[in-house]
Amino acid sequence: MGEKIVVIGGVAAGASAATKARRTSEDAEIIVFERGSYVSFANCGLPYYVGGEIRERGQLFLVTPEMFRQRFNIEVKINHEVVSINRAEKYVEVVDQASGRSFREPYTKLVIATGGTPVRPPIPGINLPGVSTLWTVPDVDSIMDTIAARRVDSVAIVGGGFVGLETAEAFINRGVRVYIVEMLSQVMTPLDPEMAGIMSGHLQAQGAEVILGDGVARFLGRDRVEEVELASGRKIKADLAVVAVGVKPELKLVMDSGLALGETKGVLVNGKMQTSDPDIYAAGDIVESTHLLTGKKVRVPLAGPANKQGRVAGANAAGGNLEFEGVLGTMVVKVCDLTAAKTGLNEREAGEAGLDYFVSYTHNGDHAGYYPGAKPMVIKLLAEKGTGRVLGSQIVGYQGVDKRIDVLATAIYGKMNVKNLENLDLAYAPPYSSAKDPAIMAGFVAANVLRGEVEIMTGAQLLEARERGEDLQVVDVRTEEEFERGHIPGAKHIPVDSMRERAGELDPGKTTVVYCGVGYRSYLAYKILQARGFTKLKNFSGGFQSWLLVSGRSF
Ligand code: FAD
Repeated sequence: MGEKIVVIGGVAAGASAATKARRTSEDAEIIVFERGSYVSFANCGLPYYVGGEIRERGQLFLVTPEMFRQRFNIEVKINHEVVSINRAEKYVEVVDQASGRSFREPYTKLVIATGGTPVRPPIPGINLPGVSTLWTVPDVDSIMDTIAARRVDSVAIVGGGFVGLETAEAFINRGVRVYIVEMLSQVMTPLDPEMAGIMSGHLQAQGAEVILGDGVARFLGRDRVEEVELASGRKIKADLAVVAVGVKPELKLVMDSGLALGETKGVLVNGKMQTSDPDIYAAGDIVESTHLLTGKKVRVPLAGPANKQGRVAGANAAGGNLEFEGVLGTMVVKVCDLTAAKTGLNEREAGEAGLDYFVSYTHNGDHAGYYPGAKPMVIKLLAEKGTGRVLGSQIVGYQGVDKRIDVLATAIYGKMNVKNLENLDLAYAPPYSSAKDPAIMAGFVAANVLRGEVEIMTGAQLLEARERGEDLQVVDVRTEEEFERGHIPGAKHIPVDSMRERAGELDPGKTTVVYCGVGYRSYLAYKILQARGFTKLKNFSGGFQSWLLVSGRSF
């Protein structure tokens, strides 16, 4: 006789757990309780349904209860809420929401995958019709019903995280005026500010207004939302408002049943996804995970970890022996035609972890410039000083960002250093990449730094040095035309091709920062000056393109 496995929650982690349990044991009895009306739906696809890329509502549903029964011999009970867990007698109390009937369902192994609920801050007017979250199928239905029933000229998106930005894109695609209201000073907090700034700039270029450093004070309207009043007093017209200010784990069952929480207030689990009760597993947005780089506990409410954790929990509940190692927080988000991605640590996280790191920026086309359609991409790389261990990367660009972030995530997982990046053997043909792939270029530059072949200075470091009043000579080595189009304030102009003749115009005793468009010509100038006895040299990382990022201008 196999295990009797009860799974609570039937979407990402729960559905993965149930089906993996079946693949692990044909004998197990498996039952899934889902309090909503849908199982295994594509919550990540909801913004694309609003935007019209996903045309059919039915495409959001990946597996139906009937398919669970037929293919997996798994009983799925939708509209059934588990209201308590009795650990001593090993049963869950379930309420059938249709009939109101409650009953006990015994288990030998339990998997809790109750996910998260979107935060709805107690802002006056938040319960007005037309103020919605975008988390569930009923949420998306109510948004689509509103769009069908009335004219929606403008929408306020509250929160500039990935759900907020994807929702913004959806409404931009529908030709609706979009306001994004973000209390913090940047959107997309997994990214460092200068990288997130590219996203804000792009949204503005698409006609959206990104309002930073201002929160929502009130939603206003008679029968439904009409306006949003901000803390600054400004009022925005809003025929719809979508609140996307984060998600909190759904922990009621866990806490009521006395299971241990970890330091981040996610469910404490071991590598087997076992909670403090060995017969109860947990997976998905409710658990805390180990960060693979820092070893610290973190909560990463994303679909990749949820599905993998569910798979591990389901296998182990059915008698298997799988392990979930941890997370790097790898993520990718598309906003209109721009993509941003991150893996590993950003600067804030590396600082908090007490790591001594350096940063490099590289700007490349996603594929060979001579093949039509190449688009720019910027890679920010964080590596540990001394060892060169790759600590993190953030990439923003139009094409091929997903591929490079996954290369770098794999590099971090494989504990590679920047010299290993130089040696990666990646696929190349002109439509896809360059002979020196952008990920490899990032490795070249960072490895040059690691070997001491070049010292670099980032835009943030230049601004700090100037604020400290350091006497720097900043030298622009680009062409006359490029210099005329824009340059770092106070820069002296000596084109690289004249540097050998004109090096005498510079003071070798001063800290000299050379820059060009993206960092290559200035590297040549650096070497020319180095050979002439300049010792306090810095190549400005990523060149004028990086300066544009820190000075808050466009990509
Ligand atoms: P969920 O998928 O939320 O499932 C939990 C389920 O448990 C819910 O259906 C809930 O009804 C049910 N439940 C809760 N309590 C009970 C109970 N007591 N009894 C019975 N059932 C219960 N992640 C990415 O990695 N990439 C993306 O692009 C991405 N985009 C997203 C876009 C949107 C709009 C949203 C909403 C999320 C997105 N995510 C994305 C996040 C991702 O969907 C979640 O991390 C993932 O779904 C979490 O899986 P989970 O199983 O833990 O929780």
